[in-house]
Amino acid sequence: MSNSVYPTAPPSDMFGTVPGYEGIGGGGYLPPPVPPEPIAPPQPGPGQNDWSIPSISEEEAQEAFKSFAAGHCCWSSAPAKDGVITNMEPINTYRYRLETFTEFRSTEWAQKPHNGEVADFYTQPAPRPWEVPATPPSHFTDQTTEIRVPFTSSIKECYQCRALGTMPCDDCRGDGKKPCWVCNGAGTKDDGNCHRCNGTGTEQCDKCNGRGTKECDICKGKRQLLAFINLKVEWKNNVEDHLVVQQQSGLNAGDLQGVHGKELFKNNNYLLYPLVGFPNPEISEASERMVRDHQSKYAQSSRILQQRQTVELIPVSKASYKWKGNSYTFFVYGNERQVSADYPATCCCNIM
Ligand SMILES: [Zn+2]
Ligand SMILES: [Zn+2]
Ligand SMILES: [Zn+2]
Repeated sequence: MSNSVYPTAPPSDMFGTVPGYEGIGGGGYLPPPVPPEPIAPPQPGPGQNDWSIPSISEEEAQEAFKSFAAGHCCWSSAPAKDGVITNMEPINTYRYRLETFTEFRSTEWAQKPHNGEVADFYTQPAPRPWEVPATPPSHFTDQTTEIRVPFTSSIKECYQCRALGTMPCDDCRGDGKKPCWVCNGAGTKDDGNCHRCNGTGTEQCDKCNGRGTKECDICKGKRQLLAFINLKVEWKNNVEDHLVVQQQSGLNAGDLQGVHGKELFKNNNYLLYPLVGFPNPEISEASERMVRDHQSKYAQSSRILQQRQTVELIPVSKASYKWKGNSYTFFVYGNERQVSADYPATCCCNIM
């Protein structure tokens, strides 16, 4: 053990001079490199024959309606079963989705029990935060990883245990002994010597087996710590949707979030060029605006790795039906044929 002053963890003073890591005190924000301008790719025009609305038949709508009603245990099946569909109206609904896959990097001081790693501090200049190689396992999926920055590691004696590897046992405060639990430390019981402790009033601490010490929880008994700069890399998929409903349908836009439709267009690139010339101008406008927003918003704090845009045509059918002389409507939507309805018989007890 040296007689140097033990540092409070982590020993950051010397690291302040590592180029690219100046001034980090933990959780340092790292401005990413300036990205190049997006390049306009050839815009693959969607085929016009893709634009037909995938409509469903009255029978299919009624089936979906019946299973919707059956999914609510207290509802009467009567409206769904006996209702007579009088009209089916397909509603053109597009969903434009923009995904921006970003990488965020931050650094912090870190330490771990020294397990024989080489102290490589300053044996070479450390790579700057955005130069440390890190590749996401896949695009468009949230993930996180941590990397020990090369050439920033040094070995320190453990500040908590002063390089002993052990700390006093909490249970016996380092004595290795505890008051006998039978005589409460008196040594006598029922006017005679306590039989458990033979009159000593103490017994061996069972937590530390009488040693009086426990393993240091900072260095895990290794006596030394490895101090280094830890680089945290976070990959995030930022998703934004824009819905285009052709007419006032009465259907709640939030209902459509969980369903899928027919994919009309999809492309991805490092930085996307907005979708132009789409048959529906609102889609082109949304693409223009959202691509611009994402690129300026996310490039400020993160590095954009990839963008993807998708246009889906979500099948929505509005069905009108008559039940007990009154008119009602329900919607069937998505490939999943979800149903939304203001159901007229939500308590079976009142219907029979
Ligand atoms: Zn103990
Ligand atoms: Zn005793
Ligand atoms: Zn220790």
